[in-house]
Amino acid sequence: MAASTTAGSTVVEVVDLHKSFGSNHVLQGLNATIRQGEVVCVIGPSGSGKSTFLRCINLLEEPTSGSIKVGGDEVTDPDCDIDAIRRNMGMVFQQFNLFPHLSVLDNCTIAQTTVLGRSKDEAQAKARENLEKVGISEKESAFPAQLSGGQQQRVAIARALSMDPKLMLFDEPTSALDPELVGDVLSVMRRLASEGMTMFVVTHEMAFAREVADRVIFMDGGNIVEEGSPEQVIGTPTEERTKVFLQRVL
Ligand code: ADP
Ligand code: MG
Repeated sequence: MAASTTAGSTVVEVVDLHKSFGSNHVLQGLNATIRQGEVVCVIGPSGSGKSTFLRCINLLEEPTSGSIKVGGDEVTDPDCDIDAIRRNMGMVFQQFNLFPHLSVLDNCTIAQTTVLGRSKDEAQAKARENLEKVGISEKESAFPAQLSGGQQQRVAIARALSMDPKLMLFDEPTSALDPELVGDVLSVMRRLASEGMTMFVVTHEMAFAREVADRVIFMDGGNIVEEGSPEQVIGTPTEERTKVFLQRVL
């Protein structure tokens, strides 16, 4: 474990984050901290700004104002080395975004060799280790189109892990999957969490959030309305908007 990420240290710190698209004020002053080894789940209705929040953390969206620090580096500082900061973050999307023309193994090695400068052998060893971890080793020569959605998503997770991220960001990783494929992906995420990976997960899977999250953030209308332990936020919410949302999804 690196000295800068000892247990409990702050991995992400968000202060007064605002984001507007034109006149649409999508994030209205968010404050959040993610600590080393924590699993933080973000829940909330469609359009509440969950994806925008996640995308601001690795600067896929540029914040309108506020500050975001990742591992102590200010992402929002125009002079920061965003590529270096991004290298510490793995991102898994609803759509798996694998390279269609590359095999599973090559999907998991390409960024290792081109971005991290690893040798092909080193990259393949790392990729195989992670394909094994997500339970898909036997598919290393297959192409994405030959895999089910659940398998593709597990490859996407293995690809992200192969960059040795300090933080994994997940944006509704199971929402595009057929119901019978959701469980395998959640199992992989559960395993990552138990191994101590720091995870920030936008999800509609309330059972997963309840079981795996250390902390749940409920967002509505671009604000964090309620935050706390899963038992608190999902089990005994205090805010009316949280109660209404949970009544609809549970
Ligand atoms: P959620 O993930 O909670 O469903 P989003 O963060 O995707 O919410 O969207 C929040 C709001 O921001 C919505 O009103 C959406 O239309 C708007 N929005 C998101 N991305 C963009 C974009 N790239 N350009 C313009 N508006 C956007
Ligand atoms: Mg979204």
